[in-house]
Amino acid sequence: MTDIIQLLPDHVANQIAAGEVVQRPASVVKELLENAIDAGASTITLVIKDAGKTLVQVIDDGAGMSTTDARLCFERHATSKIKSAEDLFSLNTKGFRGEALASIAAIAHVELKTKTEASEVGTKIVIEGSQVVSQDAVVTAKGTTISVKNLFYNIPARRNFLKSNTVEMRHIIDEFHRVALAHPQVGFTMMNNGSDVFQLPQSNSRQRIVSIFGAKTNEKLVPVTEETEILKISGFVIKPDFARKSRGEQFFFVNDRFIKSSYLHHAVLAAFEGLIKDGMNPGYFLFLDVDPKSIDINIHPTKTEIKFDDEHAMYAMLRSTIKHSLGQFSIAPVLDFNR
Ligand code: ADP
Ligand code: MG
Repeated sequence: MTDIIQLLPDHVANQIAAGEVVQRPASVVKELLENAIDAGASTITLVIKDAGKTLVQVIDDGAGMSTTDARLCFERHATSKIKSAEDLFSLNTKGFRGEALASIAAIAHVELKTKTEASEVGTKIVIEGSQVVSQDAVVTAKGTTISVKNLFYNIPARRNFLKSNTVEMRHIIDEFHRVALAHPQVGFTMMNNGSDVFQLPQSNSRQRIVSIFGAKTNEKLVPVTEETEILKISGFVIKPDFARKSRGEQFFFVNDRFIKSSYLHHAVLAAFEGLIKDGMNPGYFLFLDVDPKSIDINIHPTKTEIKFDDEHAMYAMLRSTIKHSLGQFSIAPVLDFNR
């Protein structure tokens, strides 16, 4: 019998892994923005061309990387964010898998420019299909600029599968909103085909919501706050009068990470019971802070779903807190003597 099993070469393994991490240009946007946040950036610029099909570029003023790290960051399972499995239970970074850059570099033309505070000059690396094309010293500011060009250039089937620019742009804006809402203290700029789409100054949570969704949103927001041993809730729900048939602006963040949860959505609906008609959906921007030990976010590479240790307690607390906030709000107009 001849042996037939082989280990796949790295670039092939990376290309396969990329299928999990990178579905479309918006996935690249998410990963790069999260890396910039993890690097402690205070301002981040996102530059898009052709709905990300030609270019996704993220410029940050975060910590930057050393020359060795700039090379290593494209290896699979290369991460500065965890060292052991235990670290998974005390995560306070967005990333931890060390997969995103390796995956992206396998299916696009990538250029990285980066410099740390301590180093005199920066490093520029060009990499195509997992192969390093060039590496040079460059003059650049502290921080990182990463440009991802021609996504899926070497996987025509994936490239053809991409939707129209309008649809892909919608996905990009969704990811941008999620990261920008979770980090109001970071200033964001987004440019598309050479013009500004968003200019979001460093601010607080309410201001950030208003900068994104417009001045009219301000008066629609009902603040929600509660803090117990196991859960801190903050954020806003949108007044019941503005509930919509279509799914509107609905955002849950757990430890500053956007998540999807039909279970928690249901808890919000339960809090609005009697205030909105059946089939209507309230808007909300809800931030839940929990002990990282009590959640498991290691479920899917794109990490929009998490598992809570005690889901029922979360549900009950969310429902009663929102109910209470809405109750307070409906009393408020009586105290307003100008009406
Ligand atoms: P992960 O974020 O899961 O660690 P990535 O593949 O996204 O994996 O990034 C690999 C590593 O590269 C990170 O752990 C970090 O050390 C470094 N890195 C990536 N992007 C940046 C950035 N914008 N600024 C500084 N370091 C970065
Ligand atoms: Mg990452």
